[in-house]
Amino acid sequence: MTVLKGKVFLVGAGPGDPALITRKGADCLRKADVVIYDRLISKELLYLAPENAELIYVGKRPGEHYRKQDEINQIIIEKARAGKTIIRLKGGDPLVFGRGAEEALVMAAADIQFEIIPGVTAAVATSAYAGIPLTHRDWTSSVALITGHEAPDKTCGESVCWEKLATCIGTIVVYMGVKNYEKITTRILNGGRDPQTPAAIIYAGTTPWQKTIVGTLHTIAQQAHAEKMKPPAILIVGDVVRLRESIAWHEKRPLFGRRLVVTRSRSEKSRLAEELRARGAMVIEFPTLKINPPPDMMTLHQKIQPLNQYEWIVFSSPTGVKYFFDVLITAGGDSRNLSGTRIAVRDISTAEAIKQYGIKADFCGAGLTSSDMINSLITQQRSLKNKKILIPQKTEMRTYMVQSLQKVGAHVICVDVYQISPAPHPPDEFQEHYEAGLIDGICFTSSTSVSSFLALMNLKNLHSFNDCHNIFSIGPVTSAKIIDLDGTISAQADQHTILGLADTICEYYQRNGSKS
Ligand code: SAH
Repeated sequence: MTVLKGKVFLVGAGPGDPALITRKGADCLRKADVVIYDRLISKELLYLAPENAELIYVGKRPGEHYRKQDEINQIIIEKARAGKTIIRLKGGDPLVFGRGAEEALVMAAADIQFEIIPGVTAAVATSAYAGIPLTHRDWTSSVALITGHEAPDKTCGESVCWEKLATCIGTIVVYMGVKNYEKITTRILNGGRDPQTPAAIIYAGTTPWQKTIVGTLHTIAQQAHAEKMKPPAILIVGDVVRLRESIAWHEKRPLFGRRLVVTRSRSEKSRLAEELRARGAMVIEFPTLKINPPPDMMTLHQKIQPLNQYEWIVFSSPTGVKYFFDVLITAGGDSRNLSGTRIAVRDISTAEAIKQYGIKADFCGAGLTSSDMINSLITQQRSLKNKKILIPQKTEMRTYMVQSLQKVGAHVICVDVYQISPAPHPPDEFQEHYEAGLIDGICFTSSTSVSSFLALMNLKNLHSFNDCHNIFSIGPVTSAKIIDLDGTISAQADQHTILGLADTICEYYQRNGSKS
């Protein structure tokens, strides 16, 4: 009989920004059979787990039954005994106020193998994103992390003695206990700390909706009440809070606080979303299309053999590159089958995609439309007469491309290395933000995504949507479609590339602010 050996990885996810997970933590997630996760975990991290991994939510949800610690322990033990690789994903660091220690003790007692992978704890991450260093040689050399969750009426003994902490610790960081701020600050004041000591509260630190308020030990609890601060929030008391004025950075990024929708095909990772997030925006991805492999890869592969008969193969997107190589590799081939064939790509991102397969593009378009790319290819290549050219994917301008190439005497072969179908419905995240009127703008990077967006939204034109939302377009073909559908474009990218679009959106908001 084989003995199944499961293993549990107790992983810290960081407090909000999914990029703050450690490399080791992310590697573990990619190998998970089961992910058991808490409330504050970013959904994006869950996408790292394999598609067939079991995801078990064990956090609290308002008004719903949530799992008690004993139940969680039981699930972990059961899954581990079934031989699974389990990721127990916890917010921040698993051992800082996270009950991770209790879970580790249970596993040790049950003789279950485990590893603990630390995470960036909320105090460290949120203070950094708010521009408040927890220590500074001129201001303070000590910091304490305290829970504000304990019943604050307890006097000293087992519980936190706020009066003692008041004067012996430089920076006091309070986790949890938003509703106890009044009592906590009063007790620190009673302990003899100067009422003018600067204090800050950071709500949802490290996220694009982070909110920070700054006051003094004397005023901060009332400010929190007035601003209706709610969890997850952290309170920082200490002179270091003064430094925020000089070193705050996260909230100063050009798109901070903007909620932008990015339309994209389902399986593509959105580079635009990445670029906008890097500029501080909250991005809601809206897949308009679903991309599927061709029904019969082997037949398709045979149809285009041998690849060295083509003078050129023309790619107009990273998706085309990905699916072309899927077909080639599934049929037992590899990059060497392309030796002797020249490769033309529409733009730099497509050139980067093909580089992943060890191939340098021989011709790269200037990042404009596929038709511009073909025109410049024709101009640059003196004669394409009688040359065979393969276009392995649908692009918005394929008919034009084929006709232009035929005019100069080329033989064009078109195949579809993938199939496109509409996405089933708008994503829930979009729906929630849309209904609450929280969306600032939408970005379109192709004319097909404009029409697919309207179809999914059940709208006839863009008119009503446009009333309170900005529309951004990557270039003239997309813009023409938007105008055709009664939309008004707030800005069109100066450079018709993803980077160009992200920069244009920043400039737009710096000049204009929001529409609604
Ligand atoms: N293990 C976690 C802490 C769990 S206790 C860690 O190491 O960070 C939960 C508390 O952490 C919240 O009530 C809040 O005080 C703090 N917290 C977690 N994420 C936060 C965030 N993004 N912004 C502000 N506080 C946060």
